[in-house]
Amino acid sequence: MDHVEEKILSIIDAHAQEIQALADDLFQHPEQGYHEYRTAKVVADFLRKLGMEPREGLAITGVKASIGKEGGPNLALIGELDALACPTHPSASPEGYAHACGHYAQLVCMLGAALALSDPEVAASLDGKATFFAVPAEEFQGAAVREEVLQSHDVHCIGGKCELLRRGEFDDVDLAITTHSLMVDRDSGADLVLGNNACNGFVGKTVYLHGRAAHAAAAPHLGINALNAANLGLSALGMIRETFQEKDCIRVHPYIRKGGEAVNIVPSEVVVDMMVRAATQQAVEETSAKVDNCFKGAAMAIGCEVDIVNSQGYMPCPERLPDQVMWDVAPLLGEGVRVQPIHSGSQNTASTDVGDLFAVMPVLNFTFGGSTGDLHSKDYKVSDPNTAHIIPAKMMALMAYRLLKDGGAQAKAIVDDYQAPYTKEAYKAYVKKISG
Ligand SMILES: [Zn+2]
Repeated sequence: MDHVEEKILSIIDAHAQEIQALADDLFQHPEQGYHEYRTAKVVADFLRKLGMEPREGLAITGVKASIGKEGGPNLALIGELDALACPTHPSASPEGYAHACGHYAQLVCMLGAALALSDPEVAASLDGKATFFAVPAEEFQGAAVREEVLQSHDVHCIGGKCELLRRGEFDDVDLAITTHSLMVDRDSGADLVLGNNACNGFVGKTVYLHGRAAHAAAAPHLGINALNAANLGLSALGMIRETFQEKDCIRVHPYIRKGGEAVNIVPSEVVVDMMVRAATQQAVEETSAKVDNCFKGAAMAIGCEVDIVNSQGYMPCPERLPDQVMWDVAPLLGEGVRVQPIHSGSQNTASTDVGDLFAVMPVLNFTFGGSTGDLHSKDYKVSDPNTAHIIPAKMMALMAYRLLKDGGAQAKAIVDDYQAPYTKEAYKAYVKKISG
């Protein structure tokens, strides 16, 4: 461990109480994606106190500030601002949002890392830039919420990172460091799991079935029952599941958002929302087309009209085994910290807009323990604040320092080696094609 690394660790330890208080405050104030105004202000104020001049209001609520030198690699340390709809969570807001995915802890890690890296001596040792980037709206939101956001703001993408990529806010970033509460290995007992499991990508789909209202008892023969068409479409969807191949890890999960108007009226307007997920974009597209056929066929059988609206989802994440820099810095966290790599080959069937970052740049990810209960459930809570807030802050800061020291050699090697599926401009063209 060199002198700067010792300093990074001692700064974070010295501010542990402040970091924990920040964690409590953010956890107690969960906000919906693209509505994280209070959370964003807390982040911006914190960065300002450290002497930075953050840009605010990026894709509505994003906050971004950099330290270090021009000319070297620019690393983004990412924290997600949003909570998710989980009204049964004991810490849910009056609107029903809760930090049941631990995103507030990512912000705490990012700000803890900012505390250490902005120390004048530490900052002077960085041969490149560390950019602290709090991003909105990681959780894919309900269709009604999506429609409101897309209509009331100049937002084209549902994922905050996708929208920021579209707006060019990642144009100056070469490499991203992300972290998350443990996902795949929640029962492993690990404090840190290094690397990124492959994740599914998806497309959002809304099926609008238009029938004809009529008296449900006196004159059902005059109606066209859109709910029956929805049921038939869902049955067809069940029947095509035998064509889903294990290797594609397909998940199609619908719910009926609107099922009719009243009990004595033949349902005339029915809306089915769903996500179509798979391990590759090709499998997403093929499955999406099959699902469309289910509802088109059902609509034809019942005599309904059908409109199907697909919305841009998130791209699949590739597996990324731990980079050497993670193995190098993890032992500096102390002997008691239990560290393990991801299980290679296991697929996370959930999705994240980090997949869209992977499309254009290398992403170094690790996950952290210290929490119990399932993600996205009322039972999720942090049980060990040191493991959930302090250890990952140190990990982020140490990684950024190692990547940027000595002329930024390690960061440059990773960036040069990475085969991005898209250039940033090609990604923007892809979004324009799908989302306008
Ligand atoms: Zn999450």
